[in-house]
Amino acid sequence: MIGLMQHDEKTGREKPLLRAYSIASPSWDEELEFYSIKVPDGPLTSRLQHIGPGDQIILRPKPVGTLVHDALLPGKRIWFFATGTGFAPFASLLRDPQTYEDYDEVIITHTCREVGELAYGREVIENIRKDELLEELIGEGFHEKLRYYPTTTREQSPKMGRITDLMRDGTVFADLGVEPLCAETDRAMICGNLAFNLELKAMLEEYGLEEGANSNPRHYVVEKAFLD
Ligand SMILES: Cc1cc2nc3c(=O)[nH]c(=O)nc-3n(C[C@H](O)[C@H](O)[C@H](O)COP(=O)(O)OP(=O)(O)OC[C@H]3O[C@@H](n4cnc5c(N)ncnc54)[C@H](O)[C@@H]3O)c2cc1C
Repeated sequence: MIGLMQHDEKTGREKPLLRAYSIASPSWDEELEFYSIKVPDGPLTSRLQHIGPGDQIILRPKPVGTLVHDALLPGKRIWFFATGTGFAPFASLLRDPQTYEDYDEVIITHTCREVGELAYGREVIENIRKDELLEELIGEGFHEKLRYYPTTTREQSPKMGRITDLMRDGTVFADLGVEPLCAETDRAMICGNLAFNLELKAMLEEYGLEEGANSNPRHYVVEKAFLD
C-alpha cells in the first residue's frame, strides 16, 4: 500500500489515503520503483502524479501478494501475462535472478489499448537486455531466455488483438514457435483487470494448469491489477 496524507473534513485532521500497488523494482534493488496509472479525478493518482523529488509518500511496511515463485512447481517455461499497469509486478520478476535460474524460457505478454501504454514495459525489457549488473548477477546471455510479446487492442501496432484471442486461434504459439501451454512444462502468472484475469484463468485450466499458492504450489497464480 502506498499513499499520501489528506485532510479529513469531518475531524479536521490529516489522515492517510492509501491504495494497493505492485512493487515494480526487483527485490535486490535499493530503490523502490512503482508504475502508476493516472486516473482522471482519482483520489490518489490525481495528486500522486504531481509529486517531485524531496516529497514524501506513505509506504505500508508489509508487502503481500500472490505473484511469487514459491507458489509454482518447477517447470521449463514461465509465462507472464499482463494488461495495462499489470506489467508492474513482472517488471520486478523480469529483473529477478531466480526467474532465469528456475526456467529455460521466460515469456512476457503485455496487452494495452494504445501503443503509448506499452512504453514503460518496452523500456524495462530494453534495459534488461543491456544491463551489465544483471548479467553479473544472473549470468552471461541470461536475456536470451527472455521473449517479449506486446499487443494492442485499439491503436494500430505490429501485433493487434487480445492475448486470449491470439492464444485461442494459435497465433501466439505460432509466432513464438512454442507448443500451447501444458501442465508438465509451463508455469504462468497473470496480472490484469478482473475480466481478463477470469478469462485467462479459465483458459489455463482448460490447458490443464491448476492455481497455486505458497502453501500448495501448482502451475499458475493470479493477481488483480486494480479493483474494477
Ligand atoms: C493488488 C493491486 C495492485 C495494484 N497495483 C497497481 C500498480 O502497480 N499500478 C497502478 O497504477 N495501480 C495499481 N493498483 C490500483 C491502485 O490501487 C489504484 O486504484 C490506483 O492508484 C488509482 O487510485 P485513485 O485513488 O487515483 O483512483 P481509484 O478510486 O482507486 O480508482 C478509480 C477507478 O480507476 C480505475 N483504475 C484504478 N487503477 C487502475 C489501473 N491501474 N489501471 C486501469 N484502471 C484503473 C478503476 O476502474 C477504478 O475504479 C493496484 C490495485 C490492486 C488491488
